[in-house]
Amino acid sequence: MTSTTSAAGARATVYGYPRQGPDRELKKAVEGYWKGSVGAEALRDTAAQLRRANWQQLADTGIHEVPTGDFSYYDHVLDTSVMVGAIPPRHRGAVEADTLEGYFAMARGTQDAAPLEMTKWFDTNYHYLVPELGPDTAFTADSAKQVTELKEALALGHTARPVLVGPVTYLLLAKPAPAVLGDFEPLTLLDRLLGVYAEVLADLRAAGAQWVQLDEPALVQDQPRAVLNAAARAYRELGSLTDRPQLLVASYFDRMGDALPVLAKAPIDGLALDFTGRAAANLGDLAAVGGLPGKRLVAGVVDGRNVWINDLGKSTATLATLLGFADRVDVAASCSLLHVPLDAAAERDVDTQVARWLAFARQKTAEVVTLARGLTEGAGSIAAQLAANRADLQSRATSALTHDPAVRARCAAVTEADAQRSLPYTERAAAQHSRLGLPLLPTTTIGSFPQTTELRTARADLRSGRIDTEGYEKRIEAEIREVISFQEKTGIDVLVHGEPERNDMVQYFAEQLIGYLATRHGWVQSYGTRYVRPPILAGDISRPDPMTVRWTRYAQSLTGRPVKGMLTGPVTMLAWSFVRDDQPLADTARQVALALRDEVNDLEAAGSSVIQVDEPALRETLPLRKAGHEAYLAWATQAFRLTTGGVRPDTQIHTHMCYAEFGDILQAIDDLDADVISLEAARSHMQVADELATAGYPREVGPGVYDIHSPRVPSAEEATTLLRKGLDAIPAERLWVNPDCGLKTRGWPEVRTSLEHLVAAAREVRAGL
Ligand code: GLN
Ligand code: ZN
Repeated sequence: MTSTTSAAGARATVYGYPRQGPDRELKKAVEGYWKGSVGAEALRDTAAQLRRANWQQLADTGIHEVPTGDFSYYDHVLDTSVMVGAIPPRHRGAVEADTLEGYFAMARGTQDAAPLEMTKWFDTNYHYLVPELGPDTAFTADSAKQVTELKEALALGHTARPVLVGPVTYLLLAKPAPAVLGDFEPLTLLDRLLGVYAEVLADLRAAGAQWVQLDEPALVQDQPRAVLNAAARAYRELGSLTDRPQLLVASYFDRMGDALPVLAKAPIDGLALDFTGRAAANLGDLAAVGGLPGKRLVAGVVDGRNVWINDLGKSTATLATLLGFADRVDVAASCSLLHVPLDAAAERDVDTQVARWLAFARQKTAEVVTLARGLTEGAGSIAAQLAANRADLQSRATSALTHDPAVRARCAAVTEADAQRSLPYTERAAAQHSRLGLPLLPTTTIGSFPQTTELRTARADLRSGRIDTEGYEKRIEAEIREVISFQEKTGIDVLVHGEPERNDMVQYFAEQLIGYLATRHGWVQSYGTRYVRPPILAGDISRPDPMTVRWTRYAQSLTGRPVKGMLTGPVTMLAWSFVRDDQPLADTARQVALALRDEVNDLEAAGSSVIQVDEPALRETLPLRKAGHEAYLAWATQAFRLTTGGVRPDTQIHTHMCYAEFGDILQAIDDLDADVISLEAARSHMQVADELATAGYPREVGPGVYDIHSPRVPSAEEATTLLRKGLDAIPAERLWVNPDCGLKTRGWPEVRTSLEHLVAAAREVRAGL
């Protein structure tokens, strides 16, 4: 360990910045380009202006080293695929004809070529385009984008550091191309890929890069020896290049664990580590490997993926400890600021006291700068900021919003019995069957029906005052009547009201719960040009009034068949919001669960015999490292049971999850103790049904027989075939017939025919039983 470290000139930096611009200019330009109203030149100009504005803002705030290459028209993993020449054969023609058109063709698909698959970036709500690789993939270096953006920043006088997805993470994010037969591990392409990275690094060096950052977040997951060896080889090779900039390898979202000693030994020049939340374990791990003598350490002490102000005093102390561990310590946000909105100061509607607790990208940048200054010039130089920060933290810790005695008392009084139905599943099932009197293979849907233009117009009209609440509610009721009568006519057994009143399955509830904050401009990129405004779990959660009962009751008044009450579950509410960082997630989940429990009980009291609590996010917030799984699944499943545990045995609780791969949470699905679960299955040919059956899942299951991700209408024969496959795994007494997911993104014509086919399939298979 070095003892001669001086803090002289600790630098402030970030790894990436929101791309969209203050007014989502990028979204408008890209979508305009797609529609043909914005030319390629104009799109490029807008993008260049946005980059320039971001760098200027960072530099003006005091950031010493700005990132380049983090900008993207669509996705930075797709940019990496272009950089290494991993263009799927089906898109090559388009790319050769026109780079920009070809780029968007890979992202969105064309009439004859499917897009790349999209999936979540680790446990965030950002989605990247999955590289498709095969044994024949021939990588070729295309450093144009990286070099251009670096040169732009340098020409503007900035000290700039290109940020690239690292080669190991890139390969681990990839999947075998559709045409590849047999087992293929993208990681076997490492040597080939390293040659291309070497070229890109040389190009960046030639363009003036002093440092280049290679992001390896995949190394914060539990990786087998083979992957750690691959990382060792990758950085031994890249480090040994003669014509290269200095290399900073970055990781974030969790501790680096076993990969830390590997990279600490590698001939690279610096490491960027996350020291926030669960990744704070990096501090002890760093001490255990003897620090990073001779290297630069970039310390991510400001949480880059949540919206709260930093504890500057605590970070100052962390940084002081870190000074002993490396040759040079710089300060950063823990990850790219891509995951947070741009500017908390734009939220004029937020209570002024609460606004002081919020830090979006701009505010986080200022925190990084303050901390770097404190590190360089001593804590005395930032005394005023430290004092103001202490006051803000104090106001948050003592506010009535974050500490509602009634909510706290209720949470403290929760017992395991509250989270238990009064009878075990088999006894409940018998009671439910006699109450509901459904046929074998009952048909149902997942909740939403098409969100039509008329519905969106009605919401916009209400917001702008063109119609009043009464007028709006009339329109919603009209929609519910249509949805109910269609379902009755089609012969569906368990109906839904169609969710026409919901703008979004989380926001709708967040807006009605105390303790939840909505933002006006808090846009965060979800994928491509899709931005979301996650609500903020800011305080203790309570439910002043029922949230859904009136619509469900109205729907039920129109029909003699059961109408499912429909709620978003506590885990999903957390997963798609910004969460509190001043108490354990388990506590926040419990508060949300209790609020939802009241809703469930009110629905039951209003006559609902079937209530569905959706948990599509249960698996996606599974911690990155296995060590965290057990604790997470324990509180997550308990929150669900607390939500649903208060109903009568003969009230049937459904849950829904939209994914086909859930092997690692099978036990958790059982632990939810729901009576019925619906899952996505159509594309994977009912594989979920097999897996559940093999695992001995004892409850009722509705594996989807209608793939709602495509406008394609499945024929009755297809649905019949899928259903028969389902029956091979699940006995008829426990099999439901439903689509994969909600229908809100679909159009009425397809939905009508598809559901008619679904009912026909159920009748056909029933007849043969
Ligand atoms: N009930 C919701 C719907 O049908 C479920 C959506 C989801 O699973 N993402 O829209
Ligand atoms: Zn779904």
